[in-house]
Amino acid sequence: MKKLFFILAPIFCLNAQVQMDYYLNDMSQYNSSIPTPESVIGHQVGEFHVSHDKLSHYVQELSKSSNRVKLIKRGKTYENRTSWLMIITSESNLSNLEEIRQQHLRLSDSKNIDIDTSNMPIVVYQGFSVHGDEPSGSNASLLLMYHLLASDSDETKETKEVLDNTIILLDPSFNPDGLQRFSQWANMNKNQSLNPDPSDREYNQYWPRGRTNHYWFDLNRDMLPNQLPETNAKIETFTKWMPNILTDHHEMGTNSSFFFQPGVPERKNPLISDINQALTKEIGTYHEDALNKIGSLYYSEESYDDFFFGKASTYPDANGSIGILFEQGSSRGHIQESVNGILTFPFTIRNQLTTAFSTLKAAQNMRVKLLNYMKDFHDNQIDPAKKYESIIFGKQKDKSTVHHLAEVLNSHKIKFNTLSQDVEINGTKYSKDNSYIVPLNQPKRTLIKAMTLIKAMFDTQTTFKDSLFYDVSAWTFPLAFNVNYDNTDRLNRPGRLGIKSKEVENLEKITGSVDDKSDYAYIFEPHDYYAQAAVYELIKKGLRVKTATRTFSINGENFDYGTYMVSVQNQSLNSDEIYNLLVEVSSKTGINVKSQSTGITEGIDLGSNNFEIVKEPKIGLIVGEGVRSYDAGEIWHLLDTRFNIPITKLDVSDLGFIDLSRYTHIILPDYSEGYQYQSTGGNINKNQINDYIKDGGNLIAYRNSVKWVSSNLSEIDFHTNEITADDVTFSERQSFYGAQQTGGAIFNSIIDKSHPINYGIESNSLPLFRNSNVFMTKSEQSFNNPIVYSSNPLMSGYISEENLSLLKKASPFKVIRSGKGKILLMTDNTNFRAFWFGTNRILLNMLFHSNIM
Ligand SMILES: [Zn+2]
Repeated sequence: MKKLFFILAPIFCLNAQVQMDYYLNDMSQYNSSIPTPESVIGHQVGEFHVSHDKLSHYVQELSKSSNRVKLIKRGKTYENRTSWLMIITSESNLSNLEEIRQQHLRLSDSKNIDIDTSNMPIVVYQGFSVHGDEPSGSNASLLLMYHLLASDSDETKETKEVLDNTIILLDPSFNPDGLQRFSQWANMNKNQSLNPDPSDREYNQYWPRGRTNHYWFDLNRDMLPNQLPETNAKIETFTKWMPNILTDHHEMGTNSSFFFQPGVPERKNPLISDINQALTKEIGTYHEDALNKIGSLYYSEESYDDFFFGKASTYPDANGSIGILFEQGSSRGHIQESVNGILTFPFTIRNQLTTAFSTLKAAQNMRVKLLNYMKDFHDNQIDPAKKYESIIFGKQKDKSTVHHLAEVLNSHKIKFNTLSQDVEINGTKYSKDNSYIVPLNQPKRTLIKAMTLIKAMFDTQTTFKDSLFYDVSAWTFPLAFNVNYDNTDRLNRPGRLGIKSKEVENLEKITGSVDDKSDYAYIFEPHDYYAQAAVYELIKKGLRVKTATRTFSINGENFDYGTYMVSVQNQSLNSDEIYNLLVEVSSKTGINVKSQSTGITEGIDLGSNNFEIVKEPKIGLIVGEGVRSYDAGEIWHLLDTRFNIPITKLDVSDLGFIDLSRYTHIILPDYSEGYQYQSTGGNINKNQINDYIKDGGNLIAYRNSVKWVSSNLSEIDFHTNEITADDVTFSERQSFYGAQQTGGAIFNSIIDKSHPINYGIESNSLPLFRNSNVFMTKSEQSFNNPIVYSSNPLMSGYISEENLSLLKKASPFKVIRSGKGKILLMTDNTNFRAFWFGTNRILLNMLFHSNIM
């Protein structure tokens, strides 16, 4: 037996424990004063998975040892890890770095027609492992940085040339927290006798796995929304440098080989030019060559796409740059069986390293071509014939949401202006204090289009060449933020409206105020995004807060449904303390509070029973196997970071041991027992949840959880898609099913503003984001359908005709009373990817006002 082990072990270990010469040629050419990865992290690259902590250590040690690098700290992740950037170039370039950067930026400022690019360095941004459990990229980055700093310039002419002609922005880990989480998993489950059996725990991570960041976001969808710190760092580097190439090193399924862009040509976003794709293809020939040399299999153009600009490999394409996606078949752990034989971790690292090198080679040979492409791209952004074309956006009462949208534009260096007076465009009023104008005649014209900020003549894009989407099919920013917006060529035109707008240089933080001290009562409207952050803080400090279930007016000023009221009498704080607290809270949250000296209004009076108590929500969020981690993370992030409301994360597998009665609300994000990654066990006990509701608890169920509720708690009627294949061949079956997926599109709904679910929404309609095919039937009583899809609901994105006809008959929201409690159902995602500001209110209303629904 023992003998057999010794025979087998070397086979399994084949190529799994390697030396530096497996990755790099001729180690004698490396400067011995530069530390190798092994000398700092304590193991050969590929022997273990590098943790972000060790990677940080190496980055710092390496930077101290070389004058070819400038190390930059770009802020911290949620788990307090540093987002490192290494700027690597020749010593002489480094000493002139700011000058080179300024010179380079002139390429993306279309006023500079005559720039001589023949001697300019090219800028290449190389980034790794945005998905933490796709680790070969970050592990390869250790070797890449070592090579670039240690390869001796006298002997390795190639490196000297690269350093002289290139500014390399090396971002070793796009997702520090995810990398750390995954490396822990892979290392803690590693067998000393490497075991490639895919069933080993090493290759099957537990929930929530290492792909995402701390709040379980897919960081490779955040490039346009830019809501997360890891993306903030990336966008800051991108806009500061405007790189000519950005590479994004990922991993895919274990049985796949290696992929480099271009992706599927038919799924290219129409905003991306053919020249861009031709350059992408030309860069690909360098990867082809390099991978041929080491005998690695690969493919191109058969999967993945350049469609959604929220991805790091597509975002550059809207900026005169070339984004390149790499996907390596994943060994996930250290060594794994695959259809292509045993796949070792070092093998995956070597492919990533090889294409990182071929990227730099392509950049050398295509340098002037790519620099000129960027210049030409930006020259084309300015269209003298459309000099005054612009977009206006704003809201009457919600300053914070308008501010957050402006922040997004600002982060992408899109220029926008303030208004000098209030205006009305196509019947919608835009106040000068709470609206902005975005002129289209600026270098970022394509990026503005890529964010779909422009209002298309017949809504936004609703027809597509192809019905398969790798990701969402719509991301119209003004709809996600639910702001009013329109196209106009009147405002910037001199002498027409006579409005002189001013460019916004510094976006100032929104602060609110209290107009006066009162010994009677205070009121504030619910429309500002952070109204409930204020309410929560007041309740936490012991104040009684009420909400108006009717509209009213005072001295001609109207107050909407859901207006909040704090009376001074009989509170736990005295009149001075209440005033001081309101001053503090309003300044922090941006809420404007009005003092009242009398209880009489036109409409319900302040002492009326139509003001209802707002109770403090105590929230449990169900997480764990079966729950879609993205959806759970979105809710956790929303309440924890924006509203400062603590939530308790209740793991599905612990649920049976937890006393649920301490929670007023339990949120079940998208959950299904047949979830693709779900292991056995951990199913939710329906009796426990049923008892919780009957005793007065509130269950909030999203998306597929609605189906779980229907099978386990209370039957719900659905409209179902019963399409059968007709004239569909075997090879077309995937496309047939794919076309019935609703991957993410935007639908208009009409809302009943008097229902508490809609408190705080200014308009009578609300754009909703839907990425599911759960269609609940409408209630027969109209007042039980406070949100209904409009008659022509598709605003932007793709949905099949069959599903659209079901959606028109469906209701996205429903309340079911059960015993003393309630079940609140929502089929659409109101919290999508941290940028659907417009519908976050729906969840907050469920938490703050379920007692009056
Ligand atoms: Zn990935």
